[in-house]
Amino acid sequence: MAKLDLIDVVNDLVKVVRTCPQCNKEQGLTVKYSEYQAWKDGALIQNAFVSLTAGEREILKTGICEKCWDEMFNFEEDEIYVDETPRTDTF
Ligand SMILES: [Zn+2]
Repeated sequence: MAKLDLIDVVNDLVKVVRTCPQCNKEQGLTVKYSEYQAWKDGALIQNAFVSLTAGEREILKTGICEKCWDEMFNFEEDEIYVDETPRTDTF
């Protein structure tokens, strides 16, 4: 379930916080509340969130962050790609 924070009442903006089911990372996405409401009311996500990218819509729909999405669908290209070194700061 998406968590919703009203961050800008004047400009009708809300921050939706989703937890990625793959890496458990929390990610915040700022969207227009009217667009969010349209989606909740049953509009197709691509029709509701006209101002978001496909990746951002995916975050709202599934919670999967763009990094995990890339790993799931571009794994063949990603074999030589190392973007995060594991934390080794155990003193
Ligand atoms: Zn993730």
